Amino acid sequence: MPLAEGEANHLIRVLRAHPGDVVSATTPTGERFRAVVDAVGPEGTWLRIEARLASEESFAGGPTLLVAPPRADRMSWLVEKAVELGVERILPVATGRSVVRPGGDPQAERWRRVAAAAVKQSGAKPPEILPMRPLVEALRGLGSPLFVAHPVAGSRPLAEALGALAPGALPAFAVGPEGGWSEEELALLEGAGARFVWLGRRTLRVETAAIALLAAWELRQA
Ligand code: SAH
Repeated sequence: MPLAEGEANHLIRVLRAHPGDVVSATTPTGERFRAVVDAVGPEGTWLRIEARLASEESFAGGPTLLVAPPRADRMSWLVEKAVELGVERILPVATGRSVVRPGGDPQAERWRRVAAAAVKQSGAKPPEILPMRPLVEALRGLGSPLFVAHPVAGSRPLAEALGALAPGALPAFAVGPEGGWSEEELALLEGAGARFVWLGRRTLRVETAAIALLAAWELRQA
């Protein structure tokens, strides 16, 4: 099959593939195929599909991330890394101290494009990314045990909190804005059954906290 220009560029410039190389190709819906690079040249770049890969089905599903988005490029970075680490759903939330305002579908679309590129590079499953909405709405019907990053003495160390999770359960993680959660939000989270977790002695940026949570989870499965 011929590749579209963007895909061909990725294959040749980023992955540095040559004719005869075996590569894995991911469709926008996350299906993966083993393919051989057939031709690279002015007539286009062609792949020969050899087999469908079952690896996607073996991914057991990943955590959900609720996050108060940091500013533009830092949120793109967060989305890219979260996808690499196997996030299944990103629920961007508006909080009292948020610096980024809800931008509806066009804003979510930008984050989805970043996610799509990360899917291609990492072989991850495409995550669901919802438009940004108020925290209270994102908490409705969450259905996963919720671990909220909050840097106070009463929070439990993350590893200890995750250790208490029932086998097979998938967590939801929540990261607040740079200004931290408000008292009202903390009460709301507590009412939703949140367990507050601690990520060490330093104050992390929003994106670092998100990556730390997802990496801690992913490395338990590795
Ligand atoms: N001054 C703010 C810091 C916010 S940092 C405060 O005291 O809350 C932004 C978000 O990152 C926080 O809301 C929290 O979710 C997460 N975070 C950053 N560092 C953390 C740490 N050491 N432990 C737990 N959560 C942390």
